Amino acid sequence: MIPLSVPNINGNELKYVSEALGEGWVSTGGPSISKFEDAFMSYSGAEYVTACQSGTAALHLALTDARVGSGDLVVAPAITFIASINPISYVGAEPVFLDCDDSLCIDPVKAEYYLCEECEPRGDGFWYDKTLNKPVKALIAVHLFGNMADMEKLVAICKAHNIILIEDAAEAVGTFYKKGAYAGKMAGTIGDYGVYSFNGNKIITTSGGGMATSPVSGRVRHMRHLASQAKTDEIYYFHDEIGFNYRMTNIQAAIGLAQLEQLETFIKIKQANYNLYRKNGLDLVPFRKNCQANHWFYSYLCPPEGCESGGKLLRDDLIKRLGMLGIHTRPIWGLCHEQPMYITCRAYKIERAYEYYRRVVNLPCSTSLTAADVCLVAEEILSFVKNRVPEYTRLTG
Ligand SMILES: *Cc1c(COP(=O)(O)O)cnc(C)c1O
Repeated sequence: MIPLSVPNINGNELKYVSEALGEGWVSTGGPSISKFEDAFMSYSGAEYVTACQSGTAALHLALTDARVGSGDLVVAPAITFIASINPISYVGAEPVFLDCDDSLCIDPVKAEYYLCEECEPRGDGFWYDKTLNKPVKALIAVHLFGNMADMEKLVAICKAHNIILIEDAAEAVGTFYKKGAYAGKMAGTIGDYGVYSFNGNKIITTSGGGMATSPVSGRVRHMRHLASQAKTDEIYYFHDEIGFNYRMTNIQAAIGLAQLEQLETFIKIKQANYNLYRKNGLDLVPFRKNCQANHWFYSYLCPPEGCESGGKLLRDDLIKRLGMLGIHTRPIWGLCHEQPMYITCRAYKIERAYEYYRRVVNLPCSTSLTAADVCLVAEEILSFVKNRVPEYTRLTG
């Protein structure tokens, strides 16, 4: 059995959790939380962070702090995990779905087209969607599968249109720019807000957990306040607004401390296995060239030829075949704009997302994956594809 993605908890997790339990700090207070926040700040270069319950909670906190609410629009990608989108609804706003570029992240060119052709500036300083008659307040850039969205373009577009830029870096802990305007900058530390997830399937885990960041200290202070029921004092329990129970627990943070110690090792293994898959002849979606990606998830591209035979996707047959061999893979998520709760929302010129939806298969990528596993998976995929699409050799480029 070769799993898709399982956590690796062979470091100091047990030790740190035992220590936390021994000290009696089991809930949302305790020394491990600020230790984890400090360690994460020095790793990521984020100036201010607040640990919280999940990546979803972190996004909810960011949108709430940004005062995005009822009647507002938030531009977001059609290809992402639904947790990137749902918080838009939690605050009463509405998503406008955009296509991806060849990094699988939101397409900045189409974002610019959308704003220039479909929106207009109005007296209150915001750009309004002319059809929906609502202002575009925020854009959520998701760094999909550990890749980096095109932040250079997105920052410029958001600045020019008075849009708050939120980075969903749930999958991109450790990804950074090597070159360009943001050289040395980590995913999540470039926009107005950044959010991370430490769920069990992410590159590092706290069992469940998240982190919210912003370069503006007041924003992070407010998100922390919101996450602890917006309590203004410890004795009389006064609250100055409606908050949430979103704080991370000391036990979660203890796991996170141990995981963070291993993050660079995890990235190295993931990168090596990614390269090995490619060396064995698989066409994997590349990571952005001027970035050092964390290589969290690998996206194999099924050949376009024979993608559909008798209405069936080659992708589905491949996943089924590999499953029979004990190799766990999965397709990309169902596109967000096609989910029943978002089907009436605006989806602007979505094209490439469909193609990737039909062709991407996520391959086993755990850090426990061996070279022999990688070779076996690659061999099985290639023999399946050769059998189904004999004329197919390899995609170029
Ligand atoms: C996992 C994930 C989230 C949500 O994080 P949770 O901690 O599971 O709430 C949000 N966005 C993306 C892209 C994710 O992969």
